[in-house]
Amino acid sequence: MANLKEMSPFEAVTYYFDQACDRLVIREEVRDLICTSDREMRVEVPVRMDNGDLEVFIGYRVQHNNCRGPYKGGVRYHPEADEEEVRALASLMTWKTALVGIPFGGAKGGVQCDPQGMSPRELQTLTRRFTRSISQIIGVNDDIPAPDVGTNSQTMAWMMSAYAEEHGYSPGVVTGKPLELGGSVGREQATGRGVSLIINEAAKDLGIPMENSKCAIQGFGNVGSWTAWYLSEIGSTVIAVSDVNGGVYNVQGLDLDQLKTHVENTGSVLGFNDAEAITNDELLEMECDFLVPAALGGAINSGNASKIRARMVVEGANNPVTPGGEMILNDQGVTCLPDLLVNAGGVTVSYFEWVQNIQRFPWNLDRVNNALEEIMIRAYREVQTMTVRDNITYRDAAFSIAVGRVAQALELQGLP
Ligand code: NAD
Repeated sequence: MANLKEMSPFEAVTYYFDQACDRLVIREEVRDLICTSDREMRVEVPVRMDNGDLEVFIGYRVQHNNCRGPYKGGVRYHPEADEEEVRALASLMTWKTALVGIPFGGAKGGVQCDPQGMSPRELQTLTRRFTRSISQIIGVNDDIPAPDVGTNSQTMAWMMSAYAEEHGYSPGVVTGKPLELGGSVGREQATGRGVSLIINEAAKDLGIPMENSKCAIQGFGNVGSWTAWYLSEIGSTVIAVSDVNGGVYNVQGLDLDQLKTHVENTGSVLGFNDAEAITNDELLEMECDFLVPAALGGAINSGNASKIRARMVVEGANNPVTPGGEMILNDQGVTCLPDLLVNAGGVTVSYFEWVQNIQRFPWNLDRVNNALEEIMIRAYREVQTMTVRDNITYRDAAFSIAVGRVAQALELQGLP
């Protein structure tokens, strides 16, 4: 058996994939075909910086699998977005889209850069150049990027525009766009809303009343901030949140409206009135009902998992709990709800955005939210039913359902 202490992100996703294949008795050749990426593209992205220097960034687009539909996945701008990480995230997208049953495959992109330290002009130049470099392999029916860590709706607007210069107007080539350019209502909030829908369902099963519950959230970006907002809306008390600089804590609950204004004014949760400053480590080790890691991978690992005092760890981020960390959580009786289920709300509403772009027919917010809720709850119920029936973890059940669907799609198409 693989050493669980600590696997790289791609080793981790492959480990869960292998376990699902063993459980489902998937044929070796099918397994080999769907384990690795269909295509991996590495590009140089030269950018003339504001100081006159030419800097060459490295970017990737990894297309993992498309047997259930066009490749789909975000683009990450982060210094550690290397080939290995992007490959792992692309594979995870294949399983995520299959689990929630939307007609996409899996892909991911990344550029190794620090967007915090770049000007808007530098970021636009980088994005346009990167898009031109990958434009031959993306497209409305081929591969549809979206925002991820370090990118946002503005990045998608630049990508759409750079793609249009070569291929003509195609709003469906990216999702997570501004509303004015064909984005969908409800997309920005979708991942956080999905996280809270899953927590709400799981809390019912575990007998945790939302009104008396407490939650702590690591990462206060798109996923973390919207998760906080929706959890508080359904009655949970948000006692702690953090960002890359550190966290804030108030056992009575943080005032999220005031916190939002504070973050808009200062760029960080730190220094928020009416709360105690804490470190990210302290946040993770806090006693609470729901701990939501919503920042980067590897936050909970074999080094700190034994210190987790939450009843449930809910993966808002991708790969925030390592396999070694999850084993320890399982031994301690902490329920771990996996990323491919928990944060699938984002790609689900991206799918709605793509549908609206293709049909040139925008939906209203009620339609988006109702359809999202239906898909998230159905996926949760399927996973939960298998978890109980087969006495396996939520992650093993989620991977089994997803891998089974992809393998079946491949078999139906016929192997070469
Ligand atoms: P984001 O860039 O909007 O926010 C990231 C947050 O994490 C920021 O508050 C940042 O300060 C914080 N952070 C970064 N490094 C940290 C560290 N070392 N310790 C603590 N906090 C840190 O990104 P996002 O879009 O919210 O994505 C967060 C995670 O969710 C990622 O793993 C991403 O892949 C995943 N995800 C995002 C979406 C989406 O729709 N945005 C969908 C599915 C999954």
